[in-house]
Amino acid sequence: MITGPIDLHTHSSVSDGTEAPADLIASAVTAGLAAVALTDHDSTSGWDEARAAIVGTGLTLIPGMELSTRVGYNSVHMLGYLFDPASPELVEETTRLRNDRLHRAERMVTRIGADYDIDWGDVLAQASEGATLGRPHIADALVAKGYARDRSAAFAGILHWRSGYYEPHEAPSPLLGIRIIRAAGGVPVLAHPATRGREANLPQSHLLELVEAGLGGVEISHRDNTEGGKQTLRALADEYDLIVTGSSDYHGEGKPNRLGENTTEPEQLERIIDRATGAAPFVG
Ligand code: AMP
Ligand code: ZN
Ligand code: FE
Ligand code: FE
Repeated sequence: MITGPIDLHTHSSVSDGTEAPADLIASAVTAGLAAVALTDHDSTSGWDEARAAIVGTGLTLIPGMELSTRVGYNSVHMLGYLFDPASPELVEETTRLRNDRLHRAERMVTRIGADYDIDWGDVLAQASEGATLGRPHIADALVAKGYARDRSAAFAGILHWRSGYYEPHEAPSPLLGIRIIRAAGGVPVLAHPATRGREANLPQSHLLELVEAGLGGVEISHRDNTEGGKQTLRALADEYDLIVTGSSDYHGEGKPNRLGENTTEPEQLERIIDRATGAAPFVG
């Protein structure tokens, strides 16, 4: 069993983190982690680089992803661990998601461009080739143009869902997300299920339905979960024997979240590894 700090939720420049996968691994070593999961939004294209970077570090890499799903206007994030990245349903759904995200970001930028001096090229300049595009890249372009101090300020203003510039993107239901991850041999864990507001928030009534559909676990220790929400989640996890995780949701310089600020107990990671059939942890 792995001993030492385990962080099961991080983003690289393959989605909206600011560090390339290899740099993220270097940061994980500096942070003193024993195991780290790479969970880019709707993409597994960072897995190979992360694997290569982990050799000789003594770190364990848990390959994963944060799949975008939604219930109406609520965006719901589903972490998936140790699944087969070549699973046809998964490849099909994530390809569609990345494409929808691209067009949605373009539409948002067109709207913002009517009021601010910013265009699509400014946004593309902030993303690495083939990255899963999202509001963070638009935020970086707004910062570069001097319209916001940092990503958080851009999210609180121009990119807020109430700003008039916001658009949702298409995404599967959380139920379908769970099925896709499980069909690929992975373990689905609901990300930050108790955040405030409409971002990444799931109506409580849906949670039981997800558990019945095969949800493996819930991410409880996360800075965006409310204290009351964490209590409810702990009770639910006890009652249904769910895996419980904790993580940073690190985005490099894109968010204040620091690697290892929340961690997962080794026994809980062991449960994920035992249950997964799609991929194995990579020991460096
Ligand atoms: P999107 O999926 O394109 O709507 O953008 C959501 C992403 O933006 C998530 O990955 C969050 O991590 C990130 N995000 C949300 N709020 C903030 C914030 N205040 N500062 C920086 N990043 C944020
Ligand atoms: Zn993100
Ligand atoms: Fe998330
Ligand atoms: Fe995340």
